[in-house]
Amino acid sequence: MSRDDRHPRIPGGDPDGAGHPDASAPPGEVDVAVAGDTHGAYALGKLTSVVLDALAEGATVRGGPLPGGGPDAVAERLRAACAPVLPEHGTGAEEALRTVVRAVAEGAADPADPWCAAHLHCPPLAVAAAADLAAAALNPSMDSWDQAPAAAALEQEVTAALAALVYPRRTAPDALITSGGTESNLVALLLARERARAAGAATVRVVCGDNAHHSVRRATWLLGLPEPVTVECPGGRVDPAAVDRVLAGLTGPALVVATAGTTDEGLVDPLPHLAAVAARHGAELHVDAAYGGPLLFSDRLAPLLDGLESAVSVTFDLHKLGWQPVAAGVLAVSDTGLLAPLALRADYLNADDDGEAGLPDLLGRSIRTTRRPDVLKIAATLRALGRTGLGSLVEHCVRTAREFAAFVDAHPALRRRPGEPGISTVLFRPTAADALPPAEGDALVAEVRRRLLTEGLAVVGRAVAEDADGTRRLWLKATLLHPRAAGEDLAGLLDLVTATAARIRTTHAQEPEGPR
Ligand SMILES: *Cc1c(COP(=O)(O)O)cnc(C)c1O
Repeated sequence: MSRDDRHPRIPGGDPDGAGHPDASAPPGEVDVAVAGDTHGAYALGKLTSVVLDALAEGATVRGGPLPGGGPDAVAERLRAACAPVLPEHGTGAEEALRTVVRAVAEGAADPADPWCAAHLHCPPLAVAAAADLAAAALNPSMDSWDQAPAAAALEQEVTAALAALVYPRRTAPDALITSGGTESNLVALLLARERARAAGAATVRVVCGDNAHHSVRRATWLLGLPEPVTVECPGGRVDPAAVDRVLAGLTGPALVVATAGTTDEGLVDPLPHLAAVAARHGAELHVDAAYGGPLLFSDRLAPLLDGLESAVSVTFDLHKLGWQPVAAGVLAVSDTGLLAPLALRADYLNADDDGEAGLPDLLGRSIRTTRRPDVLKIAATLRALGRTGLGSLVEHCVRTAREFAAFVDAHPALRRRPGEPGISTVLFRPTAADALPPAEGDALVAEVRRRLLTEGLAVVGRAVAEDADGTRRLWLKATLLHPRAAGEDLAGLLDLVTATAARIRTTHAQEPEGPR
């Protein structure tokens, strides 16, 4: 029997099949246009143009990196535009999209603006966002082959390529797609715990720097592991000698967690030394390269991650330096057998007899069940840009951070945190803050950041880090992930920061003193 004989035809948004898009329901009727199949493109095409117009309008009204007025004003404008969010009768797809998308775009902190540079929050590439539309329309769910036949095969190809990028000299490396660094670190620690248990130990001790991401500590909490043994990182990097001392005092399995690209500063721990120390004590190494992993795309920058291959597992995000819409995380492991503890049997998803008959088992590829095909946008991006194309974007961000650091160094009213800037992160503060007593200086730095946010002028981050004299101070943080913005696009931000600091000091000086 041909599959056409009994294949139902559900009328879609292109009723006569002549290519006349008509996605909207007549007034008073419920809009049930679906996104997939041959008709889906028509329904989507019309609505997509509504979305694109609303995005452009919202950005024009916003006119900057984020909306002005602060949280209450933003929430009030949003409410005014979108209430009621659950009307008794719907307004129809076009009106709803125009209203909601425009309101959210108007009130967005938009990383495509060079002055939106606080976090590891990247502007997504248009190619990735467009591919994500296809992911949403097709809606493969990555927990069983019968929900994602080709997407599953694509994920296998892409994870193999990413695993080979991290572990070029291993024979059977593997990688999972995750929701981001938090999940990658959680799974890495879970796998370490299971290896420890398989070896007859009760648990595994995690050893990390105080520069490690908070998700490492949270993972130990979630997994019922002892709290991590944390070593101080005076210069922002883990000191291998300190880890050596900790490991010497531990009995039982240990997992050293190093960071390649710290969240606060973009610094890379000394991976080869940490690998050697771990090996000497029979401990394992996990590298959290959520930020720094994509340095591997660049021949010039990849050597910064030397030693990565000694790690048993590597966390690697593509929604930071990778320009993917959230979510796009990767956990690479040095050998596919290390993933065995994730295997799980659920008769409705991967029955033994289905497996014997050749249906791929996807359930052991994640701790989630229903799972978005995040691989689709990743695959489109990898193909569109290629390794060297992505590498050149990473190099651009690193170069921009160097330029930005030089601008800070040349600015009479700013001071940079001593030392090399991290991958693409620069810490700095107004010298006006240095002239104040320490607590007031930090308060000024914090106030500058909040003032820029509430006035909708710029999004810069904050980080506490050690100064040259050993004191921990508050710094402003610029995390430069824009693949096109260059140093000169950011120079004005520095004058804005110093002018804002001066403005705050003037207002404070004019305020009447409170009662003593
Ligand atoms: C961002 C980050 C994480 C957390 O990753 P998510 O994708 O936000 O879950 C973990 N570690 C480091 C070093 C990070 O920069």
